[in-house]
Amino acid sequence: MSLNTQPVGFIGLGIMGQGMAARLITQKVAGTPERPLHIFNRTPSVSKEFVAAHPDAAIVVAETPADVVKAAGVTYSMLSTPEAASSVFNAKEGTLAGVSDGKSIVDCATLAETDHQMMSKAVIAAGGRYLEAPVSGSKGPAIQGALVFLCGGPESLFTEVADGLASMGKASHFLGEEVGVGTRAKLVVNSVMGTMLASFSEGINLAQAAGLAGDKMVEIFGQGACAAPMFALKGPKLVKEGGADHATNFPLKHAHKDMLLASQMAKKLGVYYGVNDEAEALYKRARDESEDLKDLDFSAVYEQIKRQKKE
Ligand code: NAP
Repeated sequence: MSLNTQPVGFIGLGIMGQGMAARLITQKVAGTPERPLHIFNRTPSVSKEFVAAHPDAAIVVAETPADVVKAAGVTYSMLSTPEAASSVFNAKEGTLAGVSDGKSIVDCATLAETDHQMMSKAVIAAGGRYLEAPVSGSKGPAIQGALVFLCGGPESLFTEVADGLASMGKASHFLGEEVGVGTRAKLVVNSVMGTMLASFSEGINLAQAAGLAGDKMVEIFGQGACAAPMFALKGPKLVKEGGADHATNFPLKHAHKDMLLASQMAKKLGVYYGVNDEAEALYKRARDESEDLKDLDFSAVYEQIKRQKKE
């Protein structure tokens, strides 16, 4: 049976998953009476709130991840960390327990490539298909359907889920049949992004210490060769009058996870990645030494930089 006529599954309604699952409904890839969306989230109240927010959609709240996979042709998964992904995947009634012939799993989380490879092998052994599809983009792009998918796995599955990916993203890249290749691309992107924001925050802080106005510096950055969408987005929030706004789009603890994974990838390949490693250490201090920063947006690295100065 074609994936495009079967119910769709979604596991993990976090910052990203909520926007993505909502797009699957509003774009009619799922959520119609003919094509219900089956969802699972560790904290059940989140699933209930999601259903309440979409009163006209056909949404089924499953008891377990296995129930989602059993009901759906394709199940998307968007869990936070390698530990979270492994515990949901391998639980007695977890994702893998629902896989049988014809089932497809599309995992969109940022994990180590070995995590995706282990899950892919297990899914294939159980008769299913697996696509790694980590995303570039944050909470806003997830809500707007403007993510960028970086995929590795069977091309046939990539093609079959094209409508689903298109409902959630503005671009989908097929990078090869080898699971892990999408993750490699994703980790390079995120390590550069984290390094850029650390460097930008450091520059703004230095400028302010030197008596320059933060908002003027953000304006100057925006007019030169350093101009970047991320600086345009985060800059005004960093220098906001009355105090910086670090409302969470991409949690600092997840940014650190990705930079550490990139560092491990570089070590494995014997490639110099020292700029990332320096920034990674800064995010690590923000995560571990400052209890109040780890769940804030990764722009809170700016606060860590300001605290470093006082030491
Ligand atoms: P999140 O909000 O922190 O959490 C995502 C989901 O993980 C939630 O459904 C949460 O369930 C679940 N979870 C966490 N620990 C769990 C555990 N031990 N067992 C079962 N479920 C668990 O993460 P997110 O920001 O949506 O990010 C999801 C993935 O996308 C991450 O790999 C992240 O690096 C990546 N990503 C994020 C962004 C971003 O801007 N946020 C952008 C691109 C990629 P509960 O509701 O029960 O906590």
